[in-house]
Amino acid sequence: LNPNNERNFSGGPGALPASVLQQVQEAIVSVPEVGLSILGISHRSDWFAAVVQELETNIRTLLGLGDDYHVLFLQGGATQQFSMVPMTLLHGKTVPAEYLLTGYWSGKVLTEARKEGPIRTLWSGEADSYRRLPSDAELDFSPDAPYIHYVSNETVEGIQFHRVLGRDDVPRVCDMSSDFLSKPCEADRFSLIYAHAQKNIGPAGVTVVLVRDALLQDVRDDLPGFLDYRSHIKAHSNYNTPPVFAIYVVLLVTRWLLNDIGGLERMDAINRRKAQALYEFLDTSDGFYQGRAATADRSLMNVAFNLATPELERLFFTEAQQAGIFGLTGHRAIGGVRASLYNGLTEQAVAGLVDFMAEFRKRHGR
Ligand code: PLP
Repeated sequence: LNPNNERNFSGGPGALPASVLQQVQEAIVSVPEVGLSILGISHRSDWFAAVVQELETNIRTLLGLGDDYHVLFLQGGATQQFSMVPMTLLHGKTVPAEYLLTGYWSGKVLTEARKEGPIRTLWSGEADSYRRLPSDAELDFSPDAPYIHYVSNETVEGIQFHRVLGRDDVPRVCDMSSDFLSKPCEADRFSLIYAHAQKNIGPAGVTVVLVRDALLQDVRDDLPGFLDYRSHIKAHSNYNTPPVFAIYVVLLVTRWLLNDIGGLERMDAINRRKAQALYEFLDTSDGFYQGRAATADRSLMNVAFNLATPELERLFFTEAQQAGIFGLTGHRAIGGVRASLYNGLTEQAVAGLVDFMAEFRKRHGR
């Protein structure tokens, strides 16, 4: 296996566990139970129906999800959900849905939602350059909103909610793309969760949607079939040709989470140790490395920071790459450095990054 993959701190797609990559490599040539390449197995085969079934069961087991939820594997990325959610839930409404504007991705969400119906921006972090998240005292949720929407982890800015927001009597909708299955998430407190795979659980191409059945009662009947959750429910996520490869890889990652890691509590403990190691290092670097996020809202997934000048940051990227450490450039929207610590990235990889950063500071700073 290629050791570079174990030191890939990219914000997305993220690093996958080495044991999963090994199985994927074999599956490209031949899936053991079928004797064919994963790239050539029919989506109408019994084998693939069993893959979808097992994956659905694994996600239900990992999250403790009841039968009142549908588990769907859709295409179009998280971006399609930015539109599909309001197209489904906002049509014909006069009372606004409530959205939180906490960073780059929730900004994209809002742009799409506004095209579909009335929206209230409940809180905006723009004035603080999205370095912090709101406290409960700053959030005045209305009991009449058709639903609330927020992004649990802002991948670009590296800020993450460490609690569930909203009221229990208003449906919660959440984009969990960059922290899904990285920790337990009280899934049963949400009416709809969506998360693309390419951070913690697989390659791009599939987006997981968990939707409570009750949310889809009395929704409009005039949506294109592809954009109607009910089409995908009826077809068991096989409405048109699904991304068989991506879904299979997500299955392998859920097996790894269940059997190798031992569930989401354990995954969370590992992810916390990784983030803590890096944040502690930033905090004791005498300002050579400056963390971007307010301490209380720091993301366990995306650690965003700056060095004193853009020139020094460029040197940092060059030397990191020479040391065999990859994917540290910040998102093009804000620049800086971002180390993403998704599930597949090991504690040893973080220790290696910290060692490199200490060395770099010795050579170029104080
Ligand atoms: N939401 C979040 C939190 C993201 O991080 C991203 C992309 O990284 C998206 C949505 C957009 O996802 P996609 O490219 O799958 O549409």
